[in-house]
Amino acid sequence: MADNHTKEIRSYNMSRIRSVNSKPELLVRKYLFSKGFRYVLNDKRYPGKPDIVLPKYKTVIFVNGCFWHKHDCGRFVWPKSNIEYWRTKITRNVERDNANYIKLSEMGWNVIVLWECQLKKDTMTKTLDELSFQLKKSI
Ligand SMILES: [Zn+2]
Repeated sequence: MADNHTKEIRSYNMSRIRSVNSKPELLVRKYLFSKGFRYVLNDKRYPGKPDIVLPKYKTVIFVNGCFWHKHDCGRFVWPKSNIEYWRTKITRNVERDNANYIKLSEMGWNVIVLWECQLKKDTMTKTLDELSFQLKKSI
């Protein structure tokens, strides 16, 4: 790996660390808790370590960053440098995500993916209300 990758990798690692308790994820948790939904966090037993697991609702939730998981929205753009590196990295993320979602479904879990962009100020309420609706519907 060439030296000019170092900076990108460092910021990648930093955003991974930050993502453990990323703000959109906290928002979802807070909302769920306030609505009386009870959950488990980052359960390692499940494929892809879902951000939020709701055993009673047989539902797992992933809160995905638009960049790292390549959301088909305006927020995702390929970086202009180290193109090869990023293509491999992001493509692998997406493949891994899909494989995990399939495994979880096969295990009988409902998989809900929430995107960072759906949890911005203007769309947040709608997204969370829909989530609550979906959860209630699932039991
Ligand atoms: Zn997005």
